[in-house]
Amino acid sequence: MKYESVIGLEIHAELKTKTKMFCACKNDPGERHPNVNICPICTGQPGTLPVINKEAVNGVIKVGLALESKISEITKWDRKNYFYPDLPKGYQISQYDNPICVGGALNIPGSGKKVKIRRIHLEEDTGRLIHFGHVGHSLVDFNRAGVSLMELVTEPDLNSGEETSAFAEELQLILRYLGVSDADMEKGQLRIEANLSLKPLGSKEFGTKVEIKNLNSFKAARNAIDYEIKRQAELLEHGKKIIQETRGWDESKGETVLQRIKEESHDYRYFPEPDLPPLKIDFGLVEKLKATLGELPQDKRDRFKKQYGLTDSQINILVNDEKLAGFFENVVSELASLEENEKQTLINLSVNYIVGDFLGLLNEASADIDDIRISAEDFAEWVGLIHKGAITTRVAKGVLKEMWATGKDPDLIIKEKDLGQVNNEEELNAAMLDVLNKNPEAVADYKKGKQNSLMFLVGQVMAATRGKADPQTIIQLLKSELDKK
Ligand SMILES: [Zn+2]
Repeated sequence: MKYESVIGLEIHAELKTKTKMFCACKNDPGERHPNVNICPICTGQPGTLPVINKEAVNGVIKVGLALESKISEITKWDRKNYFYPDLPKGYQISQYDNPICVGGALNIPGSGKKVKIRRIHLEEDTGRLIHFGHVGHSLVDFNRAGVSLMELVTEPDLNSGEETSAFAEELQLILRYLGVSDADMEKGQLRIEANLSLKPLGSKEFGTKVEIKNLNSFKAARNAIDYEIKRQAELLEHGKKIIQETRGWDESKGETVLQRIKEESHDYRYFPEPDLPPLKIDFGLVEKLKATLGELPQDKRDRFKKQYGLTDSQINILVNDEKLAGFFENVVSELASLEENEKQTLINLSVNYIVGDFLGLLNEASADIDDIRISAEDFAEWVGLIHKGAITTRVAKGVLKEMWATGKDPDLIIKEKDLGQVNNEEELNAAMLDVLNKNPEAVADYKKGKQNSLMFLVGQVMAATRGKADPQTIIQLLKSELDKK
């Protein structure tokens, strides 16, 4: 029998608000010392009162607006009660039946698939347990306790591991574009949980749902879901039942493993948070936030295609890194005052070098584009020099490295190091004749029809001109000179 997989996601994202969700403690994910960003509120001392963090509420509203959710006029807070050592209050303040955002959708880029959003709400993060297995105890760090956490729940609209990771990647990009979260999966700032079930193809009835946790990378999400689809299909093929359970992804084994069996759904005894009144969300505020959304990833993709005629893969590299996309546009604006027919050639040349050599330098140095020494103006000038043939592409790469290291403009580097392309035919001819005189054997071999000899001679002329001459010109000149012999 053929099965269809039905997948819904619960995604948590830590918001990068300056302070925590309900107190004035600093929210600093980079803090290495335990229990320094804590206070009586986030450690659950009796008699303390929470205060709502506006920045967090505004952040979630922005996410909702970007995903076309309906923003609730009134939202409220609820206690989700459970005990765990990393939860000092014995409950988590969350939102149960009245989330900030209801509905909405996210389009998976390039696939035409629209995934519906059920809700987006705010809650507080827990602390963190650090286990010292070898000495038999665990310690708790409350720096993270009370940090603003957004939870997004999708409708069960996804069907594969590939779609799941593509959805999560696009969400990550949107959160970054909005500036509400760094959403770094390695740092636990974006956490994915999937609910997955199988049903016979065409059937309307849902199968038994399995929850998958520990999906701490896009790759893990993709592989875990594909594995789980296969595992459940095999069980069903053999007439076995799927058990409602929570499974984790074991990266080293490449399989999902049982964590616990869910006999009944959790009873968290949610009840309205008595210390916080419902929150009215002002229409004016929503309109104001809408105006701050900026260009979202998909709009940028569409615009880059239309405005610059880039390829899909170039667009993806640029759009996935907003700063790189910004650098590209700055370079393009520096290419101004060019004739229209030349402009497209220069844009193509620029984007090729940006997603190629330039990105290579950035990655090699793990550098932030804000800190580098190459300005968009100098980069545009450098591209112009290549286009005019003032330097060979070989020399150009060296010049770019020099620009990277020194911040000097390319013209200056070329003058200082005498790297300008040898276009002077006399100079080139002299170098060529010298090479031919010194290599009579290669000349003789070429006359016998050995094509390799020609490339050898080209190499010699290139070396004599220190890579400054255009190889195509050398080939032409050599051929016509050799034909005379
Ligand atoms: Zn605090």
